[in-house]
Amino acid sequence: MIDGQTQLVGLIGFPTQHSLSPAMHNAAFQAIELNWSYVPLPVQPGRIKDAIFGLSALGFRGANVTIPYKQAVIPFLHELSPESRKIGAVNTIIVEKSGLLVGHNTDPFGFITSLHEAGFDSQGKQAIVIGAGGAARAAVYALLRIGTKRITVFNRDPDRADNLVAAFADERLCKAELNPDVIIKEARDTHLLVNTTPVGMWPDVDNSIWPDNVPIPRHLTVFDLVYNPVETHLLQQAQESGARVISGMEMLLQQGAAAFELWTGKKAPIATMQGALKEEVT
Ligand code: NAP
Repeated sequence: MIDGQTQLVGLIGFPTQHSLSPAMHNAAFQAIELNWSYVPLPVQPGRIKDAIFGLSALGFRGANVTIPYKQAVIPFLHELSPESRKIGAVNTIIVEKSGLLVGHNTDPFGFITSLHEAGFDSQGKQAIVIGAGGAARAAVYALLRIGTKRITVFNRDPDRADNLVAAFADERLCKAELNPDVIIKEARDTHLLVNTTPVGMWPDVDNSIWPDNVPIPRHLTVFDLVYNPVETHLLQQAQESGARVISGMEMLLQQGAAAFELWTGKKAPIATMQGALKEEVT
């Protein structure tokens, strides 16, 4: 029950009504009997500066940030974690007692934990990353950190892929033309295929970054960051080939758990959060 003592966190984005995060976090607060509440905070275009300053003015303890504001919030924060600085995007804000706003990015943690939970060890392996937006930057940051030997980025806009490669300045990272034939060829020597684009996301559920007439190599692990639907067309294609799959839902859970722990200082009740997510999508 919300009362005069309730502490607030929220989701800054636009739109926010389809988000699964309120259900996941509110279930977690209830499970460990914290008098906290997580509310959607849809911010109209052009109002992001006011919204960020409003967080401390209204006594919020923190926020998540989603599309389209993960980069736009940065100029209005007082401090950035090393991850969010390197990635150039923030998905979690902590409002300190002094009112200081600190930006974090829990997506790399979510990404690495999802790989780990699936039993995939990236050390010395090769990866393909499709996309070069905020999620791709988090995935590339994570893959470099966990010892991936080579990462090839494919993006529709080649300049954006160039920018990503330049930002990380790491010889293990390169880009290639976004063309199915080039991806198929590259996949022969690759262990991990990561989709960081919204291709396949509801309502575009019949689409995939992999062509339908070519089986996905069985030796691949396929990680689709899209979580709506949970089983995307890409993951169905991978399963049909017998390849190992990782759903974006796992990453959503893990990045959320990390944000929960940053705000509250308490261990996230993962099973409860997972149950709440499952309930939302069934
Ligand atoms: P973003 O910054 O807008 O980047 C989107 C990327 O996808 C860009 O590289 C864009 O290419 C590419 N793209 C978009 N539509 C495409 C199309 N039709 N064909 C080919 N490429 C296309 O978005 P984001 O923040 O990275 O998020 C991307 C996806 O990841 C979303 O579906 C989001 O829900 C998901 N995500 C999931 C989690 C999780 O926890 N599971 C976390 C973060 C993000 P151009 O540069 O050419 O435009």
